Amino acid sequence: MSLATKTETTTAEELAAVRQRVRDVLDEHVTPERLTRHDEEETYDLDLYRALAKAGLIQLEAELDGRRALHQSQTIVLEELGARATSIGVSIVVQYMGVELLHTFGNSMQRDRFLAPLFAGDARMSFALSEPDGGTDVARAMSTHAVAQEDGSYLISGRKKWIGGAMDADFLIVLARTTKIERSAIDGITMFIVPRDTPGIRTNPIDTMGIRALEQCDIEFENVRVPAELVLGRVDKGFRQVLGTLNGERLNGAAVAFGIARGALDYAVEYVKERQAFGRPVGAFQGLQHMLVDASVKIEGARLLLQNAARTSDEDEGASETLSAIAKLAASDAATTATDVGMRAMGGWGFLRQLPMQRYFRDARLYTFAPLTDEMIRNYIGEKHLGLPRSY
Ligand SMILES: Cc1cc2nc3c(=O)[nH]c(=O)nc-3n(C[C@H](O)[C@H](O)[C@H](O)COP(=O)(O)OP(=O)(O)OC[C@H]3O[C@@H](n4cnc5c(N)ncnc54)[C@H](O)[C@@H]3O)c2cc1C
Repeated sequence: MSLATKTETTTAEELAAVRQRVRDVLDEHVTPERLTRHDEEETYDLDLYRALAKAGLIQLEAELDGRRALHQSQTIVLEELGARATSIGVSIVVQYMGVELLHTFGNSMQRDRFLAPLFAGDARMSFALSEPDGGTDVARAMSTHAVAQEDGSYLISGRKKWIGGAMDADFLIVLARTTKIERSAIDGITMFIVPRDTPGIRTNPIDTMGIRALEQCDIEFENVRVPAELVLGRVDKGFRQVLGTLNGERLNGAAVAFGIARGALDYAVEYVKERQAFGRPVGAFQGLQHMLVDASVKIEGARLLLQNAARTSDEDEGASETLSAIAKLAASDAATTATDVGMRAMGGWGFLRQLPMQRYFRDARLYTFAPLTDEMIRNYIGEKHLGLPRSY
């Protein structure tokens, strides 16, 4: 066997083992009633999160030979979670982003202090970028600011919006303006690691229609003092640093969306085999079958695009960015289509809160606008993939 073939086989086996490990944890911990309860009560399933971390599913790279198959393994974990415990999947997208930012830009003190507890499941982080006046154009709109003090520390003041899990996160990665630069909105922003219990931070929950088992929060910062050693990466270059890691976030968002699509379609197919009308299963009606088939074609397309983008990202991150954007668009489309078809296929039963279809339907909306809206992803693909003039 050639070396290349042997490596491919090893990777395929390792990836299959990762998928099995997520499924084992889900089989042990997740029941439909438990998922419904967390969604209805808007509570985070901390025990499930910890079980996933204890199974090594946050610290994946250690066992996958450095970071050789990191993107492929992360997308597998997130696909499985998207299909079953979507809100936990969304929170793990954020943890993976924190891992990436700390791994890439953290110094050894920061990695020791913040990465180890994340890997162990003893801590969770939130990523605080969006603001009330800016999501897509957040850099230009950013009013949260950090002012350097004589002793080298910074005082952060301002507001952030939609920050997933911030109520009970252990620390936040916060972007704040440190310098006003006339010619560039994206320079002059710095990334800070802010322990959640630092005085001057207030969080308030936001009532959202989806991803209800992960609380979204408004955060207010009032003269929050952060020591110089908790600047993450370079002063004034924080936003550029984040842009450099967005490929992984796009891919990971695509993976959760793809998981939602798969989970919803699987559920709908089982349902239409059982539900009877006019003396036969409703799945025997051609109109219904065609809708389900069209959804499954979108899902298979998204699966291949996602796998291709994840594999290319592992081989050459720089070459994969448009592929990841395309995969994200395909996965978001598959998720909204499959959940819409699933609702139609179930008639009134799709509306029932005890059954999961309405939850998939609500949750699928997230990845039409996060981490970037589908419209901005189209702008990006138009410019970078088709070579057209920037459209905004
Ligand atoms: C459940 C949830 C969880 C979230 N989690 C986090 C989190 O953990 N951390 C965080 O920082 N943020 C988070 N967000 C925020 C999320 O990233 C933003 O909602 C997203 O970036 C879009 O910004 P916006 O909502 O302000 O939309 P806007 O920027 O106001 O966009 C409104 C519309 O205008 C369109 N538009 C804007 N500019 C253009 C353009 N140039 N071309 C074409 N169309 C355009 C958009 O596509 C969209 O359709 C979360 C949001 C939600 C709802």
